[in-house]
Amino acid sequence: MKIICIGRNYSEHVKELGNDPNAEPVFFMKPDTALLPNRNHPVFYPDFTNNLHYEGELVFRVSRLGKFIEPQFAHLYIDSIGFGIDFTARDIQQTCAAKGLPWEIAKSFDFSAPVDGFRPLSDFPDLNNISFELKLNGVTVQTGNSRDMIFDIRRIIAHVSKYVTLKTGDLIFTGTPKGVGPVQKGDVLEGFLEGVPSIKVQIK
Ligand code: MG
Repeated sequence: MKIICIGRNYSEHVKELGNDPNAEPVFFMKPDTALLPNRNHPVFYPDFTNNLHYEGELVFRVSRLGKFIEPQFAHLYIDSIGFGIDFTARDIQQTCAAKGLPWEIAKSFDFSAPVDGFRPLSDFPDLNNISFELKLNGVTVQTGNSRDMIFDIRRIIAHVSKYVTLKTGDLIFTGTPKGVGPVQKGDVLEGFLEGVPSIKVQIK
């Protein structure tokens, strides 16, 4: 399986990072080794960064093989929604971007994509109105709603499947709202989907 991540998908976060809000969707991938082996496994703070950031995101699970998917059929290719954290070595990412280089090493390292709390699509009657929240050590640091996405899940699936065949089990991280920030060893992150506790991750 593969993990597809959309960047720059909430206008407030785009402004936060100084990017152009009118650009086409940007996507990148993480390997399956970015997942945690189980839900109690910690995220180890990598020794190559001094600025590890959380990015709380809605994650859609692909349920069918698909290529060149039209937006109006996109919802037929996903079956569940979970909460993911797109961990990012922000210092490395900014160094790579400044040199015009790909920033895989800032995004794709081991345990950089914890995801949990999947619930069936039927739990979410409106894909464009799904609220989520991320807490850091019990304090809310990000709140988001899929209605604020620049590119909704239908457009994301149509865009990505133009270039990459989607397969059952693939995960799509859909971008993060404003409020990203650093974590330290010992921190605990908790994600909520529509108020329901969905993921808990400890940084070690
Ligand atoms: Mg992200």
